[in-house]
Amino acid sequence: MQIATLDEATIGKISAGEVIERPASVVKELVENALDAHARAIVIDIVAGGKELIRVRDDGDGIPPGELLSAVERHTTSKLQSFEDLKQLTSFGFRGEALASVAAVSDLQILSRTAASRVGWQLRSEFGRRSRPAQTAAAQGTSIAARDLFANVPARRKFLRQDATEAGYIQRVIGAYALAFPAIRFELNIDGKTVLTTDGAGDLASAAVGVFGANVAAQMVPMTEVADDDEHGDAGVRVAGLIGLPTITRGNRQQLILLVNRRWIENRSLAFALEQSYHTLIMVGRYPVAVVNVTVPPDRVDVNVHPTKREVRFTDERLVFSTLQRAARGTLLQHTPAQAVPLMIDSPLSSDTVQRRMALANPERVRTAPALFAHSDRDGTTPIDDPVRTPATGEPDIPLLRVLGQVSGTYIIAEGPDGMYLVDQHAAHERILLEKVLKLFARGSAESQQLLEPLVIDLSPEQLATAESADEELRQLGFELQPFGQGSVALRSIPAIMARKDPTKTVSAILDEIGRGGRGTSRFEAVAMTTACHSAIRAGQTLSLSEMRELLTQLEGCTAPRACAHGRPTILHLSQDELERQFSRR
Ligand code: ADP
Ligand code: MG
Repeated sequence: MQIATLDEATIGKISAGEVIERPASVVKELVENALDAHARAIVIDIVAGGKELIRVRDDGDGIPPGELLSAVERHTTSKLQSFEDLKQLTSFGFRGEALASVAAVSDLQILSRTAASRVGWQLRSEFGRRSRPAQTAAAQGTSIAARDLFANVPARRKFLRQDATEAGYIQRVIGAYALAFPAIRFELNIDGKTVLTTDGAGDLASAAVGVFGANVAAQMVPMTEVADDDEHGDAGVRVAGLIGLPTITRGNRQQLILLVNRRWIENRSLAFALEQSYHTLIMVGRYPVAVVNVTVPPDRVDVNVHPTKREVRFTDERLVFSTLQRAARGTLLQHTPAQAVPLMIDSPLSSDTVQRRMALANPERVRTAPALFAHSDRDGTTPIDDPVRTPATGEPDIPLLRVLGQVSGTYIIAEGPDGMYLVDQHAAHERILLEKVLKLFARGSAESQQLLEPLVIDLSPEQLATAESADEELRQLGFELQPFGQGSVALRSIPAIMARKDPTKTVSAILDEIGRGGRGTSRFEAVAMTTACHSAIRAGQTLSLSEMRELLTQLEGCTAPRACAHGRPTILHLSQDELERQFSRR
């Protein structure tokens, strides 16, 4: 084939592909433009997942009539004069290609008026065919509507997902920017229904109510951390945001929102830093809800890594990483409260809820109570009867508890300064042992116990392979295993924490579990967790009063006493207040 210069329309379609992948990309670009134009309120209307209509209206600076045409041309921007400016960038846009890209693949209509002008101007560009700007009445600001996205690029259009899925992506974009800019009012309407609004009052917590809902927002706590950069003598990194308590988690990372200088970004290593902070506080495979803004001087971060600007590169990624982790971990340890039991709790109730509750006869209440106890509501997404959790107390430790007895040979029932506590004996002991082992290991002195006589254990081929590959970690923990003829090992010593167990069965169970993958951030941790789990007292084991007291005393000494090694809660709390309410004393 001959080499030929592509025509304008083809060039436009090709480069549009880089910036505009789907309706949500159009929404992101239009919203960023509105933010760059100093909007105070932004309203977004979506029809059919954005395939029929995407409209973003703002009350910002507006586009001067003389610039309307150039706004939709490629590489035209009002935000950047030279390459040098890129280093001190404070606007979202700078590449000058978003509007041109949207214009190339949609039926675009721009309506805009600046403060200086008494009339507005309108421009239409149908898949690249531009009309002349025409005068029209308009409010100050800009309204940009893109219709029939990708109608001229069938391959792209076909690749779009169902309307609801595309609408979901759009909602994420708006949620992220609404959280990045709490002082700006956002409204998102999908097929005529308002699905997200924020009040623009300027406060992150109230923006979070708009984006995550009141129930989730009530379980998020603020964090901030500043790391001064000695080398440069300026504030190197500032991390601020709201992070979800371990009581609310999700099955994916969709509600983990990362912003850098208020730009919504994707960054695996920052997400990982945050997730690490929840380590052992939430279950493996669950993800936190959070919104975190990292502020760094603009010349210390490169946002021009990718056309969509969602990837960034930091000059000092390690400093950002560690600052975020310190902020999050510290905040979590301070706030992790006893799992409050979601009984029927008090909150500004609607009158019909109050009536429903009053109608509840007492026997029924008694029946509901155990059912609610059974419901641990681990991810907080299915609250019963509008529960509002006891707000985080800021109390890092568990209070001093007085043991009353044992329920089902599994739960220790205790009284504390504020009501009643139920402790899962296995989960609690597992937490105690894990911390003990990790602490000793950090000091370089795993405690092991020599067996009087070596024990010969028969292992399956899988178990043998695991014993071999995890040999080093097992040794570090205090296991001493030696090959002993075919398919067997001789066990000479065990970790001291395992002392009360039958070593044969426990070692075999531990090898099975590590072989299945185990948990933890390192293999050592996986082995430590598994060992702690298998060394801990079991559910169903009767304990004496003094054993229970000892267990609680040790739990009080833990750094993160409220969750077991797997992130399950160790304690449920029924406050004095709740007790009185349940028995209608108030
Ligand atoms: P960039 O944002 O990179 O400058 P765009 O193609 O997104 O490029 O926009 C081109 C130009 O159009 C912007 O530089 C700005 O001057 C103008 N513009 C676009 N949207 C708006 C808006 N909502 N309000 C005011 N000006 C706008
Ligand atoms: Mg732009």
